[in-house]
Amino acid sequence: MHKNAGLIPFLKSLQFRLILSIILMAVLPTCIVAATILSSYEARALSIRESEVKSQTKILANQIAASEFMSGSNSTSDTVQTQIGMLTTIYDGRILIVDANLRVMYDTYHMDEGKTIISEEVVRGMKGEEFTTYDAENLYIELAVPIINPTDATNTIVGVLVTSVSTNNIQLNASYLQQITNIIVVLVITAIGFFGVLLSIRLVTPFKKLSDGIAAVQSGHIDGELMVKDYTETILICERFNEMMSKMKTMDESRQEFVSNVSHELKTPLTSMKVLADSINSMQGAPLELYQEFMSDITNEIERETKIINDLLSLVKMDKTASALNVSLVHMNDLIEQIMKRLQPIADQQKVRLVMESFRPVSAEVDEVKITLAITNLIENAIKYNKNNGEGWVHVSLNADHKYFYVKVEDNGMGMPEESLEHIYERFYRVDKSHSREIGGTGLGLAITRNAISMHKGAIKVHSELNEGTTFDVRIPLNYIV
Ligand code: ADP
Repeated sequence: MHKNAGLIPFLKSLQFRLILSIILMAVLPTCIVAATILSSYEARALSIRESEVKSQTKILANQIAASEFMSGSNSTSDTVQTQIGMLTTIYDGRILIVDANLRVMYDTYHMDEGKTIISEEVVRGMKGEEFTTYDAENLYIELAVPIINPTDATNTIVGVLVTSVSTNNIQLNASYLQQITNIIVVLVITAIGFFGVLLSIRLVTPFKKLSDGIAAVQSGHIDGELMVKDYTETILICERFNEMMSKMKTMDESRQEFVSNVSHELKTPLTSMKVLADSINSMQGAPLELYQEFMSDITNEIERETKIINDLLSLVKMDKTASALNVSLVHMNDLIEQIMKRLQPIADQQKVRLVMESFRPVSAEVDEVKITLAITNLIENAIKYNKNNGEGWVHVSLNADHKYFYVKVEDNGMGMPEESLEHIYERFYRVDKSHSREIGGTGLGLAITRNAISMHKGAIKVHSELNEGTTFDVRIPLNYIV
């Protein structure tokens, strides 16, 4: 019963897919937004830091230029000192003052004083450019600003001010922000996952109800109709299911009816035989002629029983799918002629005139045996249910167009009442039961005929008037349609 338990069925379930979709739809945007905010924070913080340091460095460069420092005085002025102190403490930075000969005049770390440096930023600074680089690996921004002599009208560059500031605290803030975002993302995933599970359970419940309902119908707990009204889809499934159930019920009823009809039909000759045998047995010293008469009656009943069984077997064969057809190219004119030849003795016996009319030669792809059976039944009926006073006739005609061939079987016999026409193809249906039985009918002939024709994707129509006659029109495709 629990063949639906297990990992693979769960992964394939609607519930799992709903949970996954809800989580993905919520988590992906959250992660993207978090990552975007983080990276834009970092870029913005760096650019703010850069422009702040740049303006401070420029102020310092101007103050240095205005002081005596570049002209050889060893001591920096107070304002310069304050500015240097501010830059180095606030931004955790290092400041180098380089003179026009690229010699370090001042270093806040006092490590490189007196040394000559030829780096790109210093060289560019000496050319009057303001140069900034960001070292992402070692986390610092380096700036070079030219120191221009304010008293000189030609703007002589007397040195370069190089500032390096650490961006460590920006990184620290970024990683703190990252941690907070991670926590938020985890919380969001958990909350949405929880919500997803609840929602998916709710959404899937109607389908569970549906499956339970079907199981209940299957086990016979529910007799009425199945209905789960939660979704349009479940209503539709229920409607289809109910339709299917009622079709199956009808099929089951018709099968039961068929079985009871078959048993009844098979029992009738047996009962007659038993009555005949019992009565002859109970007669003591009955004459031989009586025995012979009773035995001949018993033989008739055996023949009847055999006919019913043969008809039933033909019908069962016809109930199979069309793939059971044994199709070949058949010359229909010859086939119908042969059938009529075979039926001529019965027609003679009934004093019925048989006439055939062929409008053109017709060859068709059909199952010869089944089509023979179908046409034989129609012509045999036309002879059987006819007048036997010598006025009866049966006309059989064959015609064709580019697509179909047409067989018409027309008689001027007893005809049928209109209300019977819709039933004549039913198994064991007879218009006049006793008369049909008298003339050897089983009620299966037209059922066999119709099945054979529909297996060929053909059609059969009947027109009949009581005491006037009957016409059967058959239409079958010339080429077999799979
Ligand atoms: P049966 O074996 O009784 O002939 P069929 O299935 O061939 O069974 O026919 C069903 C009933 O239809 C017959 O019992 C008969 O009453 C009626 N029927 C069929 N063909 C004709 C016909 N050509 N003229 C009048 N009645 C017919």
